[in-house]
Amino acid sequence: MAELSDDLLTDASAALDVAQAVVDSGIARLAHDGIDNNQVLAYDVAHAASGVMAARGLLGYGNKGKDEASITAAFTADVIADLAFKLYGRETEWGVAGNALDGARNFVSVYRSPEFLASLAAVQGPKHLTEDFEMVQDTFRRFAEEKLVPIAEHIHRENSDIPEEIIEGLAEMGAFGLSIPEEYGGFASGDESDYIAMVVATEELSRGSLGAGGSLITRPEILARALEAGGTEAQKQEWLPKLATVEVMNAVAVTEPDFGSDVAGVKATATEVDGGYVINGVKTWCTFGARADVLMLLARTDPDRNAGHKGLSMFIVPKERGDAHGFAFTAEHAHGTGKMEGRPIDTIGYRGMHSYEIALENWFVPAGNLIGEEDGKGKGFYYQMAGFENGRLQTAARAVGVMQSALEEATAYAENRSVFGQNISEYQLTQAKLARMAVTVQGSRQFSYEVARMMAKGEGMLEASMIKAYVCKAAEWVTREAMQIHGGMGYAEEYTVSRLFVDARVLSIFEGADETLCLKVIARQLVARHNSRQGA
Ligand SMILES: Cc1cc2nc3c(=O)[nH]c(=O)nc-3n(C[C@H](O)[C@H](O)[C@H](O)COP(=O)(O)OP(=O)(O)OC[C@H]3O[C@@H](n4cnc5c(N)ncnc54)[C@H](O)[C@@H]3O)c2cc1C
Repeated sequence: MAELSDDLLTDASAALDVAQAVVDSGIARLAHDGIDNNQVLAYDVAHAASGVMAARGLLGYGNKGKDEASITAAFTADVIADLAFKLYGRETEWGVAGNALDGARNFVSVYRSPEFLASLAAVQGPKHLTEDFEMVQDTFRRFAEEKLVPIAEHIHRENSDIPEEIIEGLAEMGAFGLSIPEEYGGFASGDESDYIAMVVATEELSRGSLGAGGSLITRPEILARALEAGGTEAQKQEWLPKLATVEVMNAVAVTEPDFGSDVAGVKATATEVDGGYVINGVKTWCTFGARADVLMLLARTDPDRNAGHKGLSMFIVPKERGDAHGFAFTAEHAHGTGKMEGRPIDTIGYRGMHSYEIALENWFVPAGNLIGEEDGKGKGFYYQMAGFENGRLQTAARAVGVMQSALEEATAYAENRSVFGQNISEYQLTQAKLARMAVTVQGSRQFSYEVARMMAKGEGMLEASMIKAYVCKAAEWVTREAMQIHGGMGYAEEYTVSRLFVDARVLSIFEGADETLCLKVIARQLVARHNSRQGA
């Protein structure tokens, strides 16, 4: 291990100040010139701001020991080097001088040096969980090892279904009630432990398998949060206990063939009839849509399309469980015959739950299933946003789990593969790769704990989007490097890393495509924050 400066964390903090000034200048430019006319800058600023925030959050972790300090330094140096890449040649757009990052150069040259990185190859750093959360971690890890890992490859390669005993097993462990308040049958006590437990459990399940387990609790989480945001007391009493015990499983039906990122434009209609609504339209990418007992479905209750997002309402749409390979239901009701047809969309990864295009024709939903009832009319867009805010933190935790698995696979392979008469783990290049991967994983994990703590205090909405953008993109890189360390075998389906690579790829697409999240959420909120500080 290289000798560390005594002032390492002070130096890291000073280097981050330099980087922050550049980011702030980029934000100020966006505030002045607009985001839509400067999309490339806005996208880069959003990612750079997320990286700098993650590094800043890591300083506290760095205080906890020598390995932690090294990880913090390497992470910080990487974030600043990445900012330099974004900045080089575009200083005018960012509104800074060509030497704007010079104040951080010494720091980066020490802690990004190949020798320093290679010395960190075997250092993953402790998580620093409290005893209670270690118990949560161990419980979910055991479940993942015993139940998910043995079936993960089969589910992926055969595109098969998640066995019911996985869902039942998770329900018994209380996984579906982690975010549901105790008074509604869940285990959430209302403090930060709820959020951290959810993050820790999600990481462990996703380490076992993203498709077969790590993503099962995301959909109930989204619906539960939407209900908490807008549901009537009677709706919370009815649905939250059922979600917590998995008596009811839900899917999320927001996206449509023509409207994914631009959710405000969705076309499906919910027309008021005696006793409820009839739904007409096509939803797509509805994950777990066959197995689900209800769809959390966004539809237009105001026929005037000019009402935009204010014409949308959120429904809990009951349905039968269907065949994973496709389903077609009809249901007679007082206003005619309702039809629902689901067609699976084959995907390169993230298999097990299956995603569907679902066509609904005159499908009846009782009036009591409109979230918020009369009061909820026109508020569906906000309820789905409330649902997704937490979903984003959880998705970041999913990404950390996938990365952790990739890091472990790559480390094990590198220690056993000999090339040119030497284990590849002994080459400096492999060591530096493994170190950067480990540092990225730990930095992302600590960032997820930080955001969990913020969200528990009712803050951190912007940060939840930032962590989703940052960590999901990092997962693509980490799984890519893990595959590369496997050489040809990384491309073989029989090696876990090939599944991790394709699974990781979806993380930056769903729950807010990376670009849309950066432009429409992160950059906008950074600019709004800047403007309010300026008193604009
Ligand atoms: C495996 C999988 C599972 C999913 N599960 C669900 C689910 O359960 N429920 C659900 O409702 N949806 C689900 N989705 C849908 C997902 O949320 C959407 O795919 C996502 O929101 C992007 O929408 P889109 O596919 O229509 O892409 P588009 O909106 O068509 O975007 C295409 C590209 O253009 C970029 N782009 C969009 N707007 C702009 C802009 N203004 N400026 C610059 N670039 C822009 C996007 O970032 C993206 O790269 C799932 C998707 C996948 C792949």
